[in-house]
Amino acid sequence: MRSLSQRAGDYPDPQMVTTAALAARNDAVRAQMRRLGVDTLLLSLGAELPWLTGYTAMPLERLTMLVLSLDAEAILVVPALEAARVEPRPELFALRPWAETENPIDVVTGVVGRSRRRLGISERTWARFLLALQTELPRSTWMNSSRITSPLRAVKDPDEVTALRRASAAADRVAAELLTSQIPLIGRTEADVSRELGQRLVDEGHDTVNFAIVASGPNAASPHHHPGGRTIGAGEAVVCDFGGTMDGYCSDITRTIFTGEPPEEFLDLYAALAGAQAAAVDAARVGTPCEDVDAVARDLITDAGYGDQFIHRTGHGIGLEEHEDPYLVRGNRDPLAAGHAFSVEPGIYVDGRWGARIEDIVVATDAGPEPLNRADHALAIVEH
Ligand code: ZN
Ligand code: ZN
Repeated sequence: MRSLSQRAGDYPDPQMVTTAALAARNDAVRAQMRRLGVDTLLLSLGAELPWLTGYTAMPLERLTMLVLSLDAEAILVVPALEAARVEPRPELFALRPWAETENPIDVVTGVVGRSRRRLGISERTWARFLLALQTELPRSTWMNSSRITSPLRAVKDPDEVTALRRASAAADRVAAELLTSQIPLIGRTEADVSRELGQRLVDEGHDTVNFAIVASGPNAASPHHHPGGRTIGAGEAVVCDFGGTMDGYCSDITRTIFTGEPPEEFLDLYAALAGAQAAAVDAARVGTPCEDVDAVARDLITDAGYGDQFIHRTGHGIGLEEHEDPYLVRGNRDPLAAGHAFSVEPGIYVDGRWGARIEDIVVATDAGPEPLNRADHALAIVEH
């Protein structure tokens, strides 16, 4: 059994990635930089660095930054004491370790040069580093590097889809244990069940647990409920939404369970939700605007009388991060492309009473939507 770790903002290295796959991503980024007239990207914390180099910066106070320029080889500026963590990939970048008494801002500024530059910087870079760089490079203009990288990262290559499939399959196995009463609910606190879900994700091969929401009774009406000391009783809806990271890629699944025989009203609510979720998955086809997938789910839920109780978007992209492009939300006219991976997770939340959500990860392919989660979608009714 592996030990359970929960580290917010920590991105384990994507172990499986080949230098050839990374080189293809670097080429695509440089082409997009040329199109948008950006000279240099400065990538620190966040998913862009591991996506391009296979290396994940430690989210600490010492600066790690990839300087990726169109007219020079890429340089990874890294604290000397962390240099040994970096798998060298000389085809992609040179390493520039900085010693404990050096100023890493000077090192980055020296690599970038002081001429007028159009720079893209990752949005997760600590503000203190951005402010220091802006002071040192006053003639440069700045933009969010995600304008270049996010649309590219959203389209998963075959190795990434394979990794997402494996993570989803592992989450499915935990979901199946939940739906078949192998994880008891009644008489336990939400926090206790949450811990078990996390441990089982790790037992099934996850490296980290990113969240394990257990929302019971009236708490099920809160989509991002923090599992606490409430004891789960009989005759309640329990929404369980959990996911983690496995070989660098994320899982995310939600199933709703009822403890005991559900009332007719809840069965009607659940039937409307399940129909909407399945229809939205089916609508997630290449070329369909993201907001249209949201509309499919929302219209069906609205027709069933629960439109005001569906209080969030239908889905989010997923990959190295739990939430990334593309977002299935009204206003996003971008069409789905082959290789887009995203959640489809409508929910209905009735304040003070109960709630339900069903979530699968789906990949858009030229042959149609491929749901990565296969755990049973029927309302699970458990007796203990
Ligand atoms: Zn989720
Ligand atoms: Zn989700």
